[in-house]
Amino acid sequence: LDANENPYGPPPGVRAALANLRDAHIYPDPLSRELRAALADFTGIPADLLLAGTGADELIDLTMRLFLQPGDAVIDCPPTFGMYAFDAAVSGATVISVPRRADFSLDLDAVEEAALRRSPKLIFVASPNNPDGSWLPDADLERLLSLPFVVVLDEAYVEFAGPAHSRIRQVPERPNLIVLRTFSKWAGLAGLRVGYGAFPAALMPHLWKIKQPYSVSAAASVAAIAALKDRAWLEEKTALIVRERERLWRLLQDAPCLRPYRSQSNFVLCRVVDRDARELKLALEQEGILVRYFDKAGLRDHIRISVGRPDHTDALIAALRRL
Ligand code: PMP
Repeated sequence: LDANENPYGPPPGVRAALANLRDAHIYPDPLSRELRAALADFTGIPADLLLAGTGADELIDLTMRLFLQPGDAVIDCPPTFGMYAFDAAVSGATVISVPRRADFSLDLDAVEEAALRRSPKLIFVASPNNPDGSWLPDADLERLLSLPFVVVLDEAYVEFAGPAHSRIRQVPERPNLIVLRTFSKWAGLAGLRVGYGAFPAALMPHLWKIKQPYSVSAAASVAAIAALKDRAWLEEKTALIVRERERLWRLLQDAPCLRPYRSQSNFVLCRVVDRDARELKLALEQEGILVRYFDKAGLRDHIRISVGRPDHTDALIAALRRL
């Protein structure tokens, strides 16, 4: 329960498609045309605005390499997904850290001030945010989009918030909005590494110039296309995970040492009270249960628990009672 994976795995059609993969000796289509056509059908976005990648991670990195020269600035709003600061550092960029408020909402006044004073090229925002599961409200997104930078909205977990809320459909009308999504979470394909992004039309030719041609493997592509054909199965499992998230949240509220936050995602962040969070994480590990402890400022008294199957929740709650 420490990496927000999907305990149900991919739909059965994915296994069959992988078993029938005939062309493993041939390089994959560098343009991922079949996958992008399936994604266009799924998202309602024209295929020529879509790029597939080795997970959303590749697209985060690619976006940074497209925009950043050493010394350029990026806004990061911690606590959040660690790869934004990681990739920015690899690009030699300056990370302007604008911490979130205590309720994990963005400090928009501080973002605005940093945007106007330090001219960052990009801001990265996850909605739902990792590690707390909070949603970026429409008004906040509007304010970000009115600022002179490109907003990279990371929707890795949007299916657990209700995919109808995704902002991906806004991309064709918004010259400074990028939306990233992935098959790792809702589609159970974390190990195969496949994600995608919707980008403003003006960026696409430049992204194609710098993208590694074969980063999306034949297996990843075939699996993602098969997953999109089994949408009803995936939606049923997503609904199970959302229901289990609510049950997990209620049960965690009864644990005297935990204060769980509401989440729109497939994990629940908890503040640990009256005991050391690291020690609790290690004690759970001794019980065979992995949860995420963040050894970072602002999160040292927190653990994040991914939503598993009902039997995973039961085992976790039983272990917490023993501890
Ligand atoms: N964005 C966020 C917010 C994440 O939490 C993760 C996975 N931990 C990713 C992106 C990366 O997803 P992928 O597996 O598609 O690279």
